[in-house]
Order: sequence, then C-alpha cells, then structure tokens
Amino acid sequence: MAAPHPEPAAAKVENLTCPVHPDQAIADDPAPGQLAQHKGHSIGFCSDRCAGEWARWSDARKASFLDLIAGADPR
Ligand SMILES: [Zn+2]
Repeated sequence: MAAPHPEPAAAKVENLTCPVHPDQAIADDPAPGQLAQHKGHSIGFCSDRCAGEWARWSDARKASFLDLIAGADPR
C-alpha cells in the first residue's frame, strides 16, 4: 500500500534515451548518479559517466536536447 511518509515530488526523468548515447534507453529506476537536474528538468543517463559528460555540455547544447525531448516525449 501507500508508503507511510509522503515522498518528495519524485524527479520524473523526462527523456527516454541517454543524451550522450541516443541509442541507449534510460533505466526505469535510474540510480542517483544517473540523474541530473537542469532548469527544472530531470534528465536521465545510461550511466553515471554520461551524467558527468552532460555536466560539461554548454547550456546551448543542453537547451537543444531539452527541445528535442519536449517534442518527442508525450509524458
Ligand atoms: Zn549514455
């Protein structure tokens, strides 16, 4: 049944595939190291190394990825 404590708004990953590896799906339940927050968006990665790679991307590159998933993912 419901958990005894209300969960803090769980960060729902908004992308279906890794930003670094567009052919790699994001796990249903990504590890904390496979997640990043960017301007209020929750981004998932296929591995923690990709999250590190994402951190080095420019804001413009991140923005174009967010544009991409905004159009492709109905969630
Ligand atoms: Zn990846």
